[in-house]
Amino acid sequence: MFSMTKDWREQRILDSSEFTHADWLQAAQRIVILGRLNEDELTRLFELATLFLADKSITGAQGFEITDAVKQSIALQACLPILNLSLEWYAGWSAIIIYPGSYKSETTTVDELGIVHEGSQHRSGEAWLRGPVILSWKDAKHSGERDGHNVVIHEFVHKLDMLNGRANGFPPLQPDMDPVRWTEIMTRDFEDFQSHHKSGFDRYGATNPAEFFAVLSEVFFETPQKLIDAYPDIYEIMVKFFRQTPLEPRP
Ligand SMILES: [Zn+2]
Repeated sequence: MFSMTKDWREQRILDSSEFTHADWLQAAQRIVILGRLNEDELTRLFELATLFLADKSITGAQGFEITDAVKQSIALQACLPILNLSLEWYAGWSAIIIYPGSYKSETTTVDELGIVHEGSQHRSGEAWLRGPVILSWKDAKHSGERDGHNVVIHEFVHKLDMLNGRANGFPPLQPDMDPVRWTEIMTRDFEDFQSHHKSGFDRYGATNPAEFFAVLSEVFFETPQKLIDAYPDIYEIMVKFFRQTPLEPRP
């Protein structure tokens, strides 16, 4: 997959980056959950974030100004789930739209009788199939504080989920993973989550399997011990999927 041409192109982007290593370091220090990364991992994350910014367009809606701090914060958190994967996992789309706060979104749902219902909701983020990622900065700026909630990771995990079609909690797995085991664990624990309140987990995860995967991914990166305690099998398959160990399990 990697050719000399691509390496050269990537190197050119890295060489002409508008941000220095020191700029990235300063931005990373504002995101508490990045504190677990070692120097090598941080350097790789900064490179990934630089390539990410060259590949994606970030625009403000409702007059929101995209500052360097906004760009850095979104790029660093968006690239955390793919730190040990690659930018290819975010291929096929390019727009990121940031609203200053939660925004009203028109919704259309079709019920089992085929009747279309129109409505509107206040949202803090959404991810469109082959389309943009939309985020509320008011919510995104409080992401990464190790409180279990992270709208940036949530929406970008939907993007990983959508690599094989509509978001359904079943992303393309790594070659050494067993899809049957993934489905069994996710289905069993989703049913458990629907009937039991788990503190530290957003109830929105009970909506459907796609939201369950996105919400539990937030917990995986923000407060991994909570995930180990509540759903150890999901923690284990997420370690295999994201190729990261945010926390070693207790012996
Ligand atoms: Zn969602």
